[in-house]
Amino acid sequence: MAIKVAKFGGSSLADAGQFEKVKAILLSDPDRRYVVPSAPGKRGYTDIKVTDMLYECSRKAAAGNAYQEVFDRIRERYMDIREELGVSFDLKPALDEIERRIAMGEGSDYAASRGEYLNGMLLAAYLGWDFVDPAECVFFTDKGKLDERKTEEALSRILKEHSYAVIPGFYGMDASGKIKTFSRGGSDITGALVAQAVQADVYENWTDVSGCMMADPRIVRNPEVIRYVTYRELRELSYMGAGVLHEDALFPVRKSGIPTNIRNTNDPEAPGTMICYEADDEDSEFGITGIAGHKDFAIVNVEKTMMNSELGFGRRVLQAIEEQGISFEHMPSGIDTMCVVVHEDSLAGKKEKLVSRIYELCDPDSVEIHSGLALIATVGRGMVRTKGTCAKLFNALEKAGVNVRLIDQGSSELNIIVGVDNLDFENAVRAIYRAFVPKDRAR
Ligand code: ADP
Ligand code: ASP
Ligand code: MG
Repeated sequence: MAIKVAKFGGSSLADAGQFEKVKAILLSDPDRRYVVPSAPGKRGYTDIKVTDMLYECSRKAAAGNAYQEVFDRIRERYMDIREELGVSFDLKPALDEIERRIAMGEGSDYAASRGEYLNGMLLAAYLGWDFVDPAECVFFTDKGKLDERKTEEALSRILKEHSYAVIPGFYGMDASGKIKTFSRGGSDITGALVAQAVQADVYENWTDVSGCMMADPRIVRNPEVIRYVTYRELRELSYMGAGVLHEDALFPVRKSGIPTNIRNTNDPEAPGTMICYEADDEDSEFGITGIAGHKDFAIVNVEKTMMNSELGFGRRVLQAIEEQGISFEHMPSGIDTMCVVVHEDSLAGKKEKLVSRIYELCDPDSVEIHSGLALIATVGRGMVRTKGTCAKLFNALEKAGVNVRLIDQGSSELNIIVGVDNLDFENAVRAIYRAFVPKDRAR
């Protein structure tokens, strides 16, 4: 019997109607044996996620302000779901205890984690499946990082005892025995850890879109869904801003060779996006896989005649950057120039110090910092074997009147990164998209 792990995001479990869809999906395939729920998300554009309300309660409690009204709304959301589903399980004692512990100043991680905890209890009761608390099987080290070995050991040992189980996402226990959460969107990571621990055949990540799209749907209208993508490509895309999966969720499943399938709870027939270790170039219909990007980068530009013959020059520039506690993103360089791309906000209050330190360490001809840069990555496993990809991309940018300020083609040849003015960002993404995906393409 195959094993499938299914993680459902917040909008997939936002109300009783969504719970019904989730149950139908789970029961339609007996291989779906482990389910990882998020906390109830938004029911509409103006709604508020339960996780955000829990953070608000915790903030208010810490400041000594009343949070009763917010907690009552949380209570009501769970009670409404329970009632509409006709679940007899009594949630009141758990809700009362959470309210009491928030009042006692238990902290924001504890408060936020309760969104998943309560949803997990409710879902387990609704399905008639076992409830497994991640406080007993997802562990963090004393440095606050995931304790991978301990987690894998505990999760696989405990889940062996349960044929069908609900494991809430987003949290675990730290080295001092307190509840700790991952960063926002972290239920994706729990799902991947569960898939790794039970050696699942597939990790299904159910959300509110039919897969990872070729471009951010807020920039390009109705973009194509990526059918197949490799883990390496998706890592590039999600690092650069394609926000459908938490970027750290990929590592456990990728390491274990488990494919991930992004699916839509509201359209369960759609095949979604399949993320695999390898995929055929032929599956990449458009020559590229996707486009993602971010605004607000800065370039530190260092020039020195004969730089190329000076041993250790690059190391000293990077040393100056490291000394300021700044991490760098890219380093496209010429013979006598070296460019280091960093996040603009990481330079706040450090620019002058950084420039003077580079002068001290490297004795360059000039050092300049240019800000307001957006980076766009065009990613595709097939690019390396396809002629004309660059020409297509740069022609499109020229036609759209976009000035390219930086070009970097990673050595993996998996992506081409261009730097443009922040103001040109959206226009550039749309131009690149249209260069590869014809407008009149029949769907
Ligand atoms: P969940 O609550 O199910 O975890 P998220 O909100 O974390 O869902 O992620 C899904 C959302 O990611 C989509 O609704 C969409 O708005 C956004 N998104 C951003 N970039 C992309 C992309 N390239 N492809 C698909 N969705 C994207
Ligand atoms: N509920 C948490 C959040 O809103 C975790 C998640 O949804 O994955 O960030
Ligand atoms: Mg998410």
